[in-house]
Amino acid sequence: MSNLIVALQQGWTRIGARLLPQACFVCAANAGAVVLCPECIRLLPMPPQEACPVCAIDSPGAAVCGRCLTRPPRFDATHAAFPYAFPVRELVHAFKFQARFGTGRFLASRLVGLASGIQADCVVAAPLHPQRLASRGFNQSILLARPVAKALRVPLLRDAVSKARLVPPQAGLALEERRRNLRGVFVTRRRFDGERVLVVDDVMTSGTTLDELAGALKAAGAARVEAVVVARTPRHASPG
Ligand SMILES: [Zn+2]
Ligand SMILES: [Zn+2]
Repeated sequence: MSNLIVALQQGWTRIGARLLPQACFVCAANAGAVVLCPECIRLLPMPPQEACPVCAIDSPGAAVCGRCLTRPPRFDATHAAFPYAFPVRELVHAFKFQARFGTGRFLASRLVGLASGIQADCVVAAPLHPQRLASRGFNQSILLARPVAKALRVPLLRDAVSKARLVPPQAGLALEERRRNLRGVFVTRRRFDGERVLVVDDVMTSGTTLDELAGALKAAGAARVEAVVVARTPRHASPG
């Protein structure tokens, strides 16, 4: 076969791959241009109907939960698109660890809907330590935060906060230990005087990371810190 024909065929294969409908991430049915088919989108787990307004954990009557009452976190409100359960957990992993950006775009579109109506002056993505950023190649939270900031028409402050230390995996640690590990880990590079900051993150487990980040933002003058996250671990799940 001539080189020209091979080149043409390869070209068509590439174009075809772009035009061909995707297989659904969960059931492999035709999913059109998105990662899940309409039926699997319909079956996605829903966040609790009644959740703590501060930390988004399920809470009867949407009352502030016991933990937030006894030790109020430094963030003011949390909105979670999903509970951290199948297949959201798998979608987040595919995005984060296999760089499947289509799943990231799908999850980001849910965050855009969740964030609409939130009063914010700027958006901050949960920072990654430079070493982790180098090994992963991208900060998943920035990719999630970009369309959110765009939809709210406020700036996404990419370098306003950084993570100063590499924190060892927190799974299995007691809450106090997690807090100790994270103390002072976020460093702000600008003032946030009087600003309402919207933080975007992928997964919220114990909330200690968000608490520490909110603490740094408030120490830099932020008036209010709200968070939108893709997934929140349900009440009795072991933190990871
Ligand atoms: Zn499906
Ligand atoms: Zn709470």
